[in-house]
Amino acid sequence: MSKIIAIANQKGGVGKTTTSVNLGASLATLGKRVLLVDIDPQGNTTSGVGINKADVENCIYDILINEVHPRDAILETKIDGLHIIPATIQLAGAEIELVSTISRELRLKKALSLVKPQYDYILIDCPPSLGILTINSLTAADSVIIPIQCEYYALEGLSQLLNTVRLVQKNLNPLLRIEGVLLTMLDARTNLGIQVIEEVKKYFQEKVYRTIIPRNVRLSEAPSHGQSIVTYDPRSKGAEVYFELAKEVVSYE
Ligand code: ADP
Ligand code: MG
Repeated sequence: MSKIIAIANQKGGVGKTTTSVNLGASLATLGKRVLLVDIDPQGNTTSGVGINKADVENCIYDILINEVHPRDAILETKIDGLHIIPATIQLAGAEIELVSTISRELRLKKALSLVKPQYDYILIDCPPSLGILTINSLTAADSVIIPIQCEYYALEGLSQLLNTVRLVQKNLNPLLRIEGVLLTMLDARTNLGIQVIEEVKKYFQEKVYRTIIPRNVRLSEAPSHGQSIVTYDPRSKGAEVYFELAKEVVSYE
């Protein structure tokens, strides 16, 4: 059975893209067929798996606005079983252009339904906002993974995100669930991280993944080499934890 997971948090820099790329690559390493969908105009997932944006013919923009078939936008990556629908800066205009289109919230859902049977997991890397692109993602998704950075104000803004999830459940996608809450960028040298973990667990309880992603410099280096951690440094702590996370995600199938 295939599952569409949106990776969402309107805060920037919490690890959405790092999680999309490295969870996707780790799931593919486990033998799963994975499609990454980059729906952030910054296109960091796209470059993070080694796609040169200048070479992209069709991107997510063309799917949402020009109704291009997703199969004509899907690209292979260097990892077997890991495909991507890329994003380019063209997508920055979509937010405004979608305002006047019919069934604007359902565009991504319709498109992904055309390719869903070909994949075990479709991971959508959301932009840092709660605008129409994130709404499209939550509407298309079966579930949502919320990355939370182990930092001051970790829970700040979460009520807006959860409100948006509720609104989407009520109006567009009643079956949307929270897949899991992922704690990211833990600095084991500080007490602050431990406090944040406790706070988040109190709030989300069993929804919090056992796997916690620590700060790992190899994870932050990999994107500039256009690689996931799986090929960039498979022996690193970063590779190990994202592989653990992938196994945990699969165990909730
Ligand atoms: P988002 O997509 O939510 O904006 P990113 O995944 O791009 O967040 O992460 C923000 C920055 O932090 C990036 O430079 C990324 O390389 C870095 N980063 C993310 N996770 C880690 C980690 N576990 N350890 C070290 N650096 C990380
Ligand atoms: Mg990002």
